[in-house]
Amino acid sequence: MQALTNRVKVLDQKPLTFKERLYLPAIFSGMLITFSHLFKKKATINYPEQKRPFSPVFRGLHILNRDEEGRERCTACGLCAVSCPAEAITMESAERQKGEEGLYREEKYAAKYEINMLRCIFCGLCEEACPKDAIYLTETFAPANYSRKSFIYGKPDLLIPDPTKEPEAFAKAQGGIKAHKEKVR
Ligand code: SF4
Ligand code: SF4
Repeated sequence: MQALTNRVKVLDQKPLTFKERLYLPAIFSGMLITFSHLFKKKATINYPEQKRPFSPVFRGLHILNRDEEGRERCTACGLCAVSCPAEAITMESAERQKGEEGLYREEKYAAKYEINMLRCIFCGLCEEACPKDAIYLTETFAPANYSRKSFIYGKPDLLIPDPTKEPEAFAKAQGGIKAHKEKVR
């Protein structure tokens, strides 16, 4: 058979020496390597009991933010969706009706807001593009799941708690936002 290149090497198959045929020296040197690792610092941790600190630039799951009165900040302008390179964000806008001023901060709001976490590359461009402080990436990551559908996060998954109803949970979520912003600054 003709070789395509001149890089072909003919390998010598030398017969095994007496020491190699015994196999025991090779087994002992392998065991020695294994035992020497018993006394070294472990490279692994007991997750989830122990957690490693995140990198300052880590970006995880998104949240939709509320203001101090519990109103949704998102005005469904679509800038986050337009800036998303992965086309992971979809939304449907709606007009705020009379009497809904306590629910939505602006005259328009996102009646439907979805992020496909399987598409998302966690680049943070949606957060950068938002003019209303309405979307943030946090230090939480999407839990594992068996179905693709469960990775499509809707408003109930993304909206942070209402401060008028759950002030502690809201403060916790807000604290996460502030800490994250300060880290990446
Ligand atoms: S983080 Fe990036 S990829 Fe993910 S939704 Fe935002 S803009 Fe799209
Ligand atoms: S999250 Fe921000 S950028 Fe996206 S639609 Fe709402 S207000 Fe606009």
